[in-house]
Amino acid sequence: MAAAPASQSKCIFCQIASKSTSTTLLYSDDRIVAFQDISPSAERHYLVIPLEHIPSVKDLQKRPEDYSLASHMLEVGQMLLRRDAPQCQQYRFGFHRPPLNTVGHLHLHCLALPYTPRWKFIKFLSVGSIGFLEADKLLEKIKPSL
Ligand SMILES: [Zn+2]
Ligand SMILES: [Zn+2]
Repeated sequence: MAAAPASQSKCIFCQIASKSTSTTLLYSDDRIVAFQDISPSAERHYLVIPLEHIPSVKDLQKRPEDYSLASHMLEVGQMLLRRDAPQCQQYRFGFHRPPLNTVGHLHLHCLALPYTPRWKFIKFLSVGSIGFLEADKLLEKIKPSL
């Protein structure tokens, strides 16, 4: 699933994941990193991305390794928002589905509401099978059957 190194180096999120940018990482381990969204849409707005170049949420399938990666991304996102925005009452976690994803490297949006400015909610609407996909809906979908 990993892309060729040549194309990886052009991907801004691969560069962030390999720590070759000045982006401050809020969290990193051997599978994922987390950092602040460059143009925040909410009180707190973090992104959690895998180190591996996975293009989008459509590339995650009903496989134990995909399920475990996505759950891990969500757990870390929840941990960071609880730590950094405990005053916020409402959190949202999810993915933009192609063609509405702005960067072609899988990223989990972690939002501590309210949206700032308020109209930004529009970027995170879930409408049927397009728009924003809630993380728990994704997990439900790719959960390997026992
Ligand atoms: Zn990438
Ligand atoms: Zn996005």
